[in-house]
Amino acid sequence: EEMKGEATFNNSPRQVPGYHYSRVTPTPVHDPKLLAWADELAAFLGLSKPAERGPAVDALAGNLVTGSMKPFAARYGGHQFGSWAGQLGDGRAISLGEVTATDGTPWEIQLKGAGPTPYSRRADGRAVLRSSVREFLCSEAMHYLGVPTTRALSLVQTGDEVVRDMFYNGNPQAEPGAIVARVAPTFVRFGNFQMMAAAGELDNLRALADYVIRRYYPELGEPSGPQVYVRWFEEICGRTAVMLAHWMSVGFVHGVMNTDNMSILGLTIDYGPYGWLEPYDPDWTPNTTDFGSRRYAYGQQPNVGLWNLWQLARALAHLVETPELLRPGLDLYSATYESTRHEMLLRKLGLTNIAPDEDKALFEALNEALAEAETDMTLFFRHLSHLAPALLSGQEQEAAAWDTLLAAAGYATAPAAEARLREWLPRYLQRLRQETAAPEAIRAQMLAANPKYVLRNYLAQQAIEAAEAGDLSVLNRLMEVLKTPFAEQPEHEELAAKRPEWAREKPGCATLSCSS
Ligand code: AMP
Ligand code: MG
Ligand code: MG
Repeated sequence: EEMKGEATFNNSPRQVPGYHYSRVTPTPVHDPKLLAWADELAAFLGLSKPAERGPAVDALAGNLVTGSMKPFAARYGGHQFGSWAGQLGDGRAISLGEVTATDGTPWEIQLKGAGPTPYSRRADGRAVLRSSVREFLCSEAMHYLGVPTTRALSLVQTGDEVVRDMFYNGNPQAEPGAIVARVAPTFVRFGNFQMMAAAGELDNLRALADYVIRRYYPELGEPSGPQVYVRWFEEICGRTAVMLAHWMSVGFVHGVMNTDNMSILGLTIDYGPYGWLEPYDPDWTPNTTDFGSRRYAYGQQPNVGLWNLWQLARALAHLVETPELLRPGLDLYSATYESTRHEMLLRKLGLTNIAPDEDKALFEALNEALAEAETDMTLFFRHLSHLAPALLSGQEQEAAAWDTLLAAAGYATAPAAEARLREWLPRYLQRLRQETAAPEAIRAQMLAANPKYVLRNYLAQQAIEAAEAGDLSVLNRLMEVLKTPFAEQPEHEELAAKRPEWAREKPGCATLSCSS
């Protein structure tokens, strides 16, 4: 209520100086039909699964706006691929308002693809089924992996077609349209603050900062002086570092780490041309738009996180006496990232923190060896979780174990490429022998840190192609399996398989277009 909104519900694209958000109305769709539903999230929010068609699904498609909803689109800007882009805003996302979850906490519900808003610029405000399936599946998969993320409640097909030039080759195609209901405490981004700072709207900047602190960072106390903003920025930096360490640990590549896609709560947000690292390659990016600069490649992500926080600091500098006060936050980011990443790697390798310096070198050598051998990161760590403890207890022969591991996880067959990894493995085993825990306990620790099931790019693509043909079984099965990604689930073994050869260059499987 303390925020300034617009009285007129005018969805036409325009600049909206002076406002935090615009009141809008979703544009109705032709025939909304529920395709997928996140049952555990729904239960947490106190919602029960609706029928395929009906008033609840109409609401999730923007066709039904009830009296308690206050639909709005937020105004924000951002740096896209390193350049300031001016006003962006929710061009196709419309928040309906908040629901109170069963634990009493408020959660914002936002429809992505619900029609044009003042921030749509030249685009249509819609989303295709293809990208909506990807956002729905990945939001939930990340949650079950323990990665800080926004959630997705529902996937609704609109019954309307959306035209996209997916390959940017002047050959646009009609595709089925869809709407995802996304859920988060708030969808406020770095870019909301940047927008106000860039426009010189310093009262609004402070009002938004105070709102976010009071509501989402109450432990910091009343924002009564500059010191609170300094501590708040440190907290944002710490949370962002933890999120980045999680991404690196599971092999998630966001693909568009523009500052408008960075959550002020340190949650993964805006699942677009993201991808999962399959052959280990720090230089890999799924996003075809980023093939030139590879700015958002896997190995760049921690640096980009810092760069983005630096942009946020430039905006928040208006709230403190001198920008230098925000420097400790940036330092904290780097330190938190390093320590969290280190701790996560320890867990992935069944180690404890008894030899920090030795381990640092061990991890660096692993990074190089994995890249050279083009190893599947997920399969490598998962197989290692079984094999290394077995070697400790003398149940396996070392040479045979490493053969098994490399056969299971390797993409390149050239022995030269594997040489470094073959050197690294005995070195690691030697280090593992310094641990005092029982092999069985080490195995349990490793299995809990190394998922067996991640949303491999080709699996998402298979779910999409089936859904486009009216078959939801692939999507439903993936959703169920990805709920317990650390469990063996032998009946779903094929969903843990290394990327098949046919998927190597296939669009959607190895490369992702921004067109969505
Ligand atoms: P993204 O790269 O998906 O984070 O989007 C960047 C900006 O473009 C955001 O302001 C989006 O709201 C906007 N945008 C992307 N696709 C559309 C669309 N189909 N219609 C309207 N706005 C869009
Ligand atoms: Mg975005
Ligand atoms: Mg390589």
